[in-house]
Amino acid sequence: MIAQPPGSHFVGGAYIDCHEGAPLPVQYPATGEVIATLHDATPDLIDQTITAARAAQVGWSEMTGTERGRILRRAADIMRDRNHDLSVLETYDTGKPLSETLVADATSGADALEYFGGLAGSLTGEHIQLGEDWVYTRREPLGLCVGIGAWNYPTQIACWKAAPALACGNAVIFKPSEETPLCALKVAEILVEAGLPAGLFNVLQGRGDVGAALVTDPRVNKVSLTGSVPTGRKVYAAAAAGLKHVTMELGGKSPLIVFDDADIDDAVGGAILGNFYSSGQVCSNGTRVFVHKVIKEAFLTRLTERLATAILGDPHNEATNFGPLVSARQLEIVQGYIAKGQAEGARLVTGGETLDQPGHWITPAVFADVTDDMTIAREEIFGPVMAVLDFEDEEDVITRANATEFGLSAGVFTRDLKRGHRVIAQLQAGSCFINSYNDAPVEAPFGGVKSSGVGRENSKAAIDHYSQLKSVYVRMGHVEAPF
Ligand code: NDP
Repeated sequence: MIAQPPGSHFVGGAYIDCHEGAPLPVQYPATGEVIATLHDATPDLIDQTITAARAAQVGWSEMTGTERGRILRRAADIMRDRNHDLSVLETYDTGKPLSETLVADATSGADALEYFGGLAGSLTGEHIQLGEDWVYTRREPLGLCVGIGAWNYPTQIACWKAAPALACGNAVIFKPSEETPLCALKVAEILVEAGLPAGLFNVLQGRGDVGAALVTDPRVNKVSLTGSVPTGRKVYAAAAAGLKHVTMELGGKSPLIVFDDADIDDAVGGAILGNFYSSGQVCSNGTRVFVHKVIKEAFLTRLTERLATAILGDPHNEATNFGPLVSARQLEIVQGYIAKGQAEGARLVTGGETLDQPGHWITPAVFADVTDDMTIAREEIFGPVMAVLDFEDEEDVITRANATEFGLSAGVFTRDLKRGHRVIAQLQAGSCFINSYNDAPVEAPFGGVKSSGVGRENSKAAIDHYSQLKSVYVRMGHVEAPF
C-alpha cells in the first residue's frame, strides 16, 4: 500500500494539510479499498494560492528561458529516476496495470518536461523591418494558468499542462480529478526539488466546484481543461465570461477504418490499442471500428483470439495487461452501455462481463453488426467497449466517420498509402494515424476539432497557447501629426 501524503494540497512550494474542506477518499480501483483521505480546498485556500502564484510568476518571467528550461530538464531527470515508484503510485491512483504505467505515465510526463525545458531557451519574438521604421515582437507569458485534469492520466495531464506553461514563464494551479488526486502532488514535489521557485506549480484538490472557483477568478488568465464535452462547455463558457485564454482537450468517438487490403494483425493490434489500453479510458480511442465487409469475419476471429490472451488480475503484477475501471460509477456507466448495445440489436461477440469480486472489473467487450444510429456508436463510453461497423465504399465510410459532433482522432489501416493519405485528409479530426493508433509523442501537436476541443497540447504549437505576442512599433524619424 502507499503512504498517506503529508497534505492534501501543494501550495507555495510545500504540502498544506488543511482538513476544513469536505473529505475526499481515494479508492484503489482494483479492490475498492480507501488508500488515502484528502480534503477539498476551501475558498480561503484557493484565494491564498492564487495570490501566491501571481506573486511568484513575476520573478519567474524575468528569468531567462534557458534558466527556466534547466529546472524543467532537471525535473525530467528526477522523474525518470523515480519512474518505478511513480508508476506504482499511478497504478494505485488509477488502477491501470503497472505494465502500462511503467511506460506511459511518468515517462510521458518526463518527455514533456524535457521537451519544453529544451524549447524554453529558444522562445523569441521577431523583427519586422518597415522601411526605416521597424516592429519587434516580444513573446510574453499569459500570467496565471489553471489546469484541470481528468482521471485517466493524472501524471501525464499535470505535466502536459505544466511543462509548456512554465517554459513560457507562467505560474500554474492544477486541480486533479477527484478520482485520482495523488499523482500531481508528486509532480509538484519533483519540480520543487529540481529548483522550481515556490508558488509556481500548485496543486489544489477538490470536486468540480473547486475547478469552477478557479476558472471564474478574475486573477486567472488561462484555463486548460482535460475532461468531457459537457464539462468543457461549462468551463469554456465560464472562461469566456472573463475573456480568458483556453485549451480544451475533450472527449471523442473516433473512427478507425480498416480497408480490405489492410494487414489484419496490424489492424487488430491498432483496434486493441485504440479500445482496450487503460481499460478503454482514453479520450482519443478509435471506438467506432469500420471494417470492410470482405474481411469483417476474419478481423473478428483474430480479434477474439487475441482478446482471449488478455491478462486481468493484480495490476501490480507486471504480467497483468488489463486493469479495472476507475470507479463504481464508471463501471455502472459502462454496464449501461453494454445493456443498451444488446437491447438495440448489436451482436456482443465477446466480453462485457462484470467480475464478481471487489473493485470495478469488466472484461473487454466487442460488439459487431453495429449501425450508425445505435447509442454505442454515437456516445462516448470511456470504457472497454468496441463497436464494429461494416462498410464497403470509401466515400460512404468517410461520410459516416465524420457524422459525429466529435473530432478528436481518426485512424486508417490500408496497404495503399495513397488511399491512406487521401482518406485521412478528409476525416474531421485533430490527431490522426495511418497504420497505427494512439501514439502521442510530445513532438507532435495533440488535440481535437469540432466538439472535441480547442487549442493544441504538446509540440511547438503549445507555445502559442501559453504565451502572447506584444508588438512594438519603433519610429526612426519624426512624428507627422495633422495638428
Ligand atoms: P469530467 O469532464 O467529468 O471532469 C474533468 C475535470 O473537470 C475534473 O477534474 C472535474 O472535477 C472538473 N470539473 C467538473 N465540473 C467542473 C466545472 N463546472 N468547472 C471546473 N471544473 C470542473 O471528465 P472525467 O474526469 O470524467 O474524464 C473523462 C473525460 O475526459 C472523457 O470525456 C474523456 O474523453 C476526456 N479526456 C480527454 C482527453 C483529451 O486530451 N482530449 C484526455 C483524457 C480524458 P471532478 O472530477 O472532481 O468532478
